[in-house]
Amino acid sequence: MRKVRIEKILLLNPPFDGLYIRDQFCSHLSKGTYYWQPLDLLCLSGCLHADGYEMAVLDAVAEGLSIEKAHARIDEFSPDAVIFLTGCDSFDEDIAFVEETKRRGAKVAIGIGDILREQGEELLRKHPALDACLLDFVTHGVHSYLQGNLDKAENMMVRTGTKVRRIPARDKQKLFSVPPPRYDLFPLKQYRLPHNRYHPYATVLASSNCPYGCSFCPFARTAYRAREADDVLRNLEVIRNMGIRQVHFADWTFAVHRKQTMTLLEGMIDAGFDFTWDCLSRVDLMDHELMSLMRRAGCELIEFGVESGSQALLDRYEKDITIEQIRRAFQSAKELDISTLATFVLGLPDETRESLQKTLALALEIEPTFCSFNMASPQPATQLRRELIDGGGLNPDAPAILDSSRSVPVFSTSYLSAKEVYEFRNHAVRQFYLRPSYVVNRLRNIRSMEELQNHIFNGFSLAWQTVVKPLKYGN
Ligand code: SF4
Repeated sequence: MRKVRIEKILLLNPPFDGLYIRDQFCSHLSKGTYYWQPLDLLCLSGCLHADGYEMAVLDAVAEGLSIEKAHARIDEFSPDAVIFLTGCDSFDEDIAFVEETKRRGAKVAIGIGDILREQGEELLRKHPALDACLLDFVTHGVHSYLQGNLDKAENMMVRTGTKVRRIPARDKQKLFSVPPPRYDLFPLKQYRLPHNRYHPYATVLASSNCPYGCSFCPFARTAYRAREADDVLRNLEVIRNMGIRQVHFADWTFAVHRKQTMTLLEGMIDAGFDFTWDCLSRVDLMDHELMSLMRRAGCELIEFGVESGSQALLDRYEKDITIEQIRRAFQSAKELDISTLATFVLGLPDETRESLQKTLALALEIEPTFCSFNMASPQPATQLRRELIDGGGLNPDAPAILDSSRSVPVFSTSYLSAKEVYEFRNHAVRQFYLRPSYVVNRLRNIRSMEELQNHIFNGFSLAWQTVVKPLKYGN
């Protein structure tokens, strides 16, 4: 039972040399100049505020703070407890930072991040400065833990004496409610998404986790829950009152729960919100009726995980969509004037030259507004990672097994070397983005200074990735 009284909590994204994104149990380097709001900390800020804590937020990455400056800021607030983000590539630095924070007075440190989801028990045993790991951020269970009431805590791993205990998820309801985040505590002006029209923006959650089974994804078959539509609408009202016009729905898969989604969209239209918003979804969840309602509610961009132009690969990695569904969703988006971002995964173990070519051909055929060609990455808690380890293609103990920018392959496929996949990726990026018709269209559609800035930054980033970086990689 915890004896110390916890009144002041710091939500922390520790310093890092670079735009390292630690968010929603996923960590990687930003591929451009964008850096988005950490959803975990946003959701926790709302819940802990409602639970009565005094809070501060320090996003040292977004603010570009050095270790020394970050500690100086923390000293000013003098928290009793710290809830910090961490990631696969930064854990050693993060825990060293947290150890120092505790030396300076914080009594409790709770971590949240991909590496803790997979290796939490082991890391709790190894690092006495780490008191607990959160396995969910849409929860009030952390409050019970901080009050020393482990019977009401939930979805955590905690140290009790010399033992580590796993506390299961308790809330089995399909619909959940959470208070709106304390957006005002975050440095909103420091966050950017590559396709935003207005600045700053605000992140909203309409559902948590994902019921689908894509074998390269760390969120596959996680306990999906939708948020009460009225609860989301109240959250949007808070954002409107702050004068923000750009909203990002951060659900891993928007519109899984069709009834909740339709109620939410109708509520947004009735409320007359003047938001421009975007979301991530799946092509098989979309149809013309739903997409036209989304458009009427202000949706301007949908990100779809298309992954591959090869049906065989889509099936092999359990994406559970068809090429025909991809074509239909992108066609509907065009008809409704909704922009699209298609994300692809290149270099999965069964990737061949032919499947890569099919992927590029599909990207050029469906013509999304933006395309993101990512390298397959054996992230913690994925089936892909387990398969690679079992097959001897990956040493689980080797350091630096991930390229955190997802732009350089970290393993060869059964048919292609890592270098061949990397060369194709750069070829695909150039083929897609350097078409004169594409460039003219993009320039024609710029409607705000924010968009113009984004295009300039992203253009430089693209040139660096596909021209300068390949030279470094040995081409
Ligand atoms: S890739 Fe998308 S649809 Fe597939 S499991 Fe992950 S979040 Fe769900």
